[in-house]
Amino acid sequence: MIQSPRGTKDILPSTINAWQQLEDTFRRVSTLFGYQEIRTPIFENTEVFMRTIGENTDVVGKEMYTFPDKGGDSMTLRPEMTASVARAVVQHNLTATNPLQRLWYVGEFFRYERPQKGRYRQFHQFGAECIGSAAPEADVEVILLVAKLLSDIGLKEFSLEINTLANREVRILYREKLVEYLIEQKSSLSPESQERLDKNPLRVLDSKHPLDRVAIESAPTILEYLDDESALHFATVQNLLTIAGINFTISPRLVRGLDYYSHTVFEFVSTALGAQSALGGGGRYNDMFEEFGGKHTPAVGFAMGIERILMILEQTNPTLYKQNTPDVMMITLENESYPFSQTIAQLLRNDGISTVMDVQGRSLKAQMREADRLGAAITIIIGENERTSGQLTVKNMKTGMQETATQENIIEIVQKMLRLS
Ligand code: AMP
Repeated sequence: MIQSPRGTKDILPSTINAWQQLEDTFRRVSTLFGYQEIRTPIFENTEVFMRTIGENTDVVGKEMYTFPDKGGDSMTLRPEMTASVARAVVQHNLTATNPLQRLWYVGEFFRYERPQKGRYRQFHQFGAECIGSAAPEADVEVILLVAKLLSDIGLKEFSLEINTLANREVRILYREKLVEYLIEQKSSLSPESQERLDKNPLRVLDSKHPLDRVAIESAPTILEYLDDESALHFATVQNLLTIAGINFTISPRLVRGLDYYSHTVFEFVSTALGAQSALGGGGRYNDMFEEFGGKHTPAVGFAMGIERILMILEQTNPTLYKQNTPDVMMITLENESYPFSQTIAQLLRNDGISTVMDVQGRSLKAQMREADRLGAAITIIIGENERTSGQLTVKNMKTGMQETATQENIIEIVQKMLRLS
């Protein structure tokens, strides 16, 4: 049997309801904050991600699905969306008409990672980008959007961690200080961190390797080097979050994996998940748009993993997984009654009442069993009698109560019965 590729998942009807409800919530909350949806291609020219995410990051260095297309151009299945959004904003010059772009997205992303629980090769993210403002108010707006979203989907067990990666000058200075410190500790570091030390030293702070713990704990933090601008930006973010009643902790070692961040970075962490506890995160990126030939455009955004959220909701909110059930099942007794049965079904559907029919010519008993299995609230039996007399029997499957209806008042009777059941 051919199976789906390693690290991918079929989303089957048994779970689709949860996906659709989450997507509805993304749409609703984004709209509440004035964000508009953007959809970009699933693959981009490889350069889009190389230029922005950074060659020495895990995402670009190890995890991208990159392939030459038939014309010999290098293409990559998108590993994240921020770079694609920035590319699209510059390409369509969106900021010319409105210098502040509030955009959201949902879709599938691809990273060649070692699959494990909560980590897939094709996964889904929801995210938003506030493009065109350098102000800390924009950072807070994005964080408030995520917090509202998590609370509206009924997720309570999470914490918010924030940090600043300051402006470029501070970051360069801090990087030097950190490298100086880490070089002294080099022999005690894990092999991965020794490698990162040369290529991407900030990422050493991200290491979960036990060998690195002591060195990381006593490493200098960026907070010790902030200049006035960076300190003020970070203080304003904290102040506004406090005023909004959002709890957070400052996590001076939070650097996130990608190269493009400056100033605020943040992560929402689940207290209910094990190893893969990061629900989502984001931060400010001020220097991306020039990479695509655009003008300097400060921006801030976040992305959240949908599979991770569903892993929690599966346990805490099982009703989200309830499958859709039809309102009505037509029970058709013989072939000659099928056209009349179909006419009634169409009448009901046109009024927004979901109605299924037997399409396999099965017995009355088999059709009644099917109605039960599907969880239909009502059955309507159509046989020769009903067809000739025009008198229809409408049965409430829960109470067993029956009512007689005609083609003229069937909708009214079904609607009333649905209201009562
Ligand atoms: P990142 O773009 O790496 O910051 O990822 C943002 C969020 O997407 C993470 O916090 C996860 O919730 C989710 N995510 C990232 N990579 C994966 C993956 N391979 N499988 C499932 N979810 C992922």
